[in-house]
Amino acid sequence: MDCLFCKIIDGEIPSTKVYEDEYVFAFNDIAPIAPMHILIVPKVHITSANDITGENSSVVAKIFEAAGKIAKEQGYDSYRIINNCGDDAGQTVKHLHFHLLGGVKMGWGPESLGKTE
Ligand code: AMP
Ligand code: ZN
Repeated sequence: MDCLFCKIIDGEIPSTKVYEDEYVFAFNDIAPIAPMHILIVPKVHITSANDITGENSSVVAKIFEAAGKIAKEQGYDSYRIINNCGDDAGQTVKHLHFHLLGGVKMGWGPESLGKTE
């Protein structure tokens, strides 16, 4: 399958790994928008949040278990987790991933969506 994040998990494409376990792989985003910007992905290929089912949803719990550990390791106890699902939300890589962001005081409200139209 021609999937960028599957290739990163397999080591075919290099990444800066920050965490790995049986279910989850995490690495630094190549274009960070915050001092901590890590992508947490399931090792199994799931295309987007629309494809989470009763069969595979346990991996999402694993991702959130990992997120807290990773943030703590990086020195943060306040952070934001974002999942972009589909084109309007700005999902560019079609392998489920969660952005783990921290190290900056974040805004909240309509403007924080970064609307383009
Ligand atoms: P999204 O726009 O939610 O699909 O997020 C995809 C993210 O993947 C973006 O933040 C990109 O900067 C990041 N990205 C793309 N290619 C790579 C790569 N080779 N290594 C690390 N992060 C990447
Ligand atoms: Zn994949």
